Amino acid sequence: MEVDVIIIGGGPAGSAMGSYLAKAGVSCIVFEKEKFPRPHVGESLVPSSTRVFDELNFTHKMEEHGFPKKFGASWTTYNSNKIFDHDWEGIEEADANIRFEEREQSGVNQNYTYHVDRGLFDKILLEHAGECGAKVFEETDVYHVDFISSDKVEVGVRTKDKTEHKHYCKILVDASGRKTFIGNKLGIKVKDAVFNQCAFHTWFNGFNRHAFENPNNIYIHFIPVSNSWIWQIPINETETSFGVVTQKNNFPKTEAEREKFFWECVATRPELETELRKAKQSRPFTVEADYSYAISQLVHDNLILIGDAARFVDPIFSSGVSVALNSARFASRDIIEALKNKNYTASSFSSYEKTIKAGVNNWYNFIKMYYRLNVLFTYFVNHPKYRLEVLKFLQGDVYDDSTPQLLKEMEKIISQVESNPKHPLHEFLGNLTANSFNVFDKK
Ligand SMILES: Cc1cc2nc3c(=O)[nH]c(=O)nc-3n(C[C@H](O)[C@H](O)[C@H](O)COP(=O)(O)OP(=O)(O)OC[C@H]3O[C@@H](n4cnc5c(N)ncnc54)[C@H](O)[C@@H]3O)c2cc1C
Repeated sequence: MEVDVIIIGGGPAGSAMGSYLAKAGVSCIVFEKEKFPRPHVGESLVPSSTRVFDELNFTHKMEEHGFPKKFGASWTTYNSNKIFDHDWEGIEEADANIRFEEREQSGVNQNYTYHVDRGLFDKILLEHAGECGAKVFEETDVYHVDFISSDKVEVGVRTKDKTEHKHYCKILVDASGRKTFIGNKLGIKVKDAVFNQCAFHTWFNGFNRHAFENPNNIYIHFIPVSNSWIWQIPINETETSFGVVTQKNNFPKTEAEREKFFWECVATRPELETELRKAKQSRPFTVEADYSYAISQLVHDNLILIGDAARFVDPIFSSGVSVALNSARFASRDIIEALKNKNYTASSFSSYEKTIKAGVNNWYNFIKMYYRLNVLFTYFVNHPKYRLEVLKFLQGDVYDDSTPQLLKEMEKIISQVESNPKHPLHEFLGNLTANSFNVFDKK
């Protein structure tokens, strides 16, 4: 087949791209190597996803499928007594809660987002791309690309029965997720020098979320292991997702040791352990590792990288799916324009590259400061002066300002804490330090 655009991967980035393009009358194909539904990590959304759902006329499907509504987020601490011993400019609350309704978001008409079973969510979003007019092929693996001329890319695919086919397009979109098809092919994937985390996760059936103050929120439970935390995400009425995130050097090698480590981490939070022991694990544990990286160049002649295929930072603030959806949103605009102008060179996609790089850099800098001094994050959430600025991030509104005031304030305080060993927060500094404070020079 010969079409305008071929998309590698039918996750949130690829499906949203297929939907945007097909709605605009662009001929496109999505090749997805798996048969959906398939399990996938990344189950808690942030509200900037809703702009994409609305634009794609998809929000009603989220409602019809009854995904749990996420009204906010909660963080719990293990060391609250230790923090209360200090009186540093009013760190009075060691825990934090926030509700999305506290800040109005332009272009978003609801005060909640969703938690999702990614098997179901990805399936209905991919089907939606098909209903919008994209051609969708599952169980079809893209294994080869060749940039033949200024308006012709050859794409080789292998179907389930191992037959091989060639297809042609003007613009190729890599939405292959953490497989980073093009990043690997071109050797332009750069592992993150700072973050070296991994995660170990599963679902539990019958976990009593009502034992917690905000049962519909995502919970992030801090634990007394460096740079480590536990997520608690509602999946449906009965299932709740749990994951332990930790540094790779803490992470045991064998499956049995990992399971033991999971329960040891849970045991550091007795109120959580009590409830989790009463529930029943309903899925095998899954490991995610080596997931923090960047790709040095996101746009090339005839080629755009979106979603995780372009970059993944860290899961702490549930930003991944929103970045995937919004990268499709921004990139599709450049693609539609490029097709109109019959100009498929990298320069046609520069506005996408600039916007997404600035947004993801903001996430990166925010997350880096969080790991450096996470009590400061709690302080900022609870401080009236900073609360809405933090919420803006947590809602996923990171694309309109390349150096937000919030990050400058956090950076200033962290520098003071770092340079003063007597500062009451000095002992809480984390050890992920590389580049922490030349973040703005790195733009
Ligand atoms: C530990 C952890 C926890 C996370 N938690 C969250 C969270 O709570 N909230 C959140 O928003 N995000 C979270 N994320 C991030 C989230 O998983 C990703 O950001 C999101 O799935 C990216 O979507 P995508 O479409 O870019 O990639 P994917 O969802 O990975 O989709 C890529 C698709 O491409 C297909 N594919 C790959 N190669 C080929 C090929 N050669 N040919 C054809 N198809 C191919 C794959 O099968 C896959 O279906 C988390 C990530 C990690 C590591």
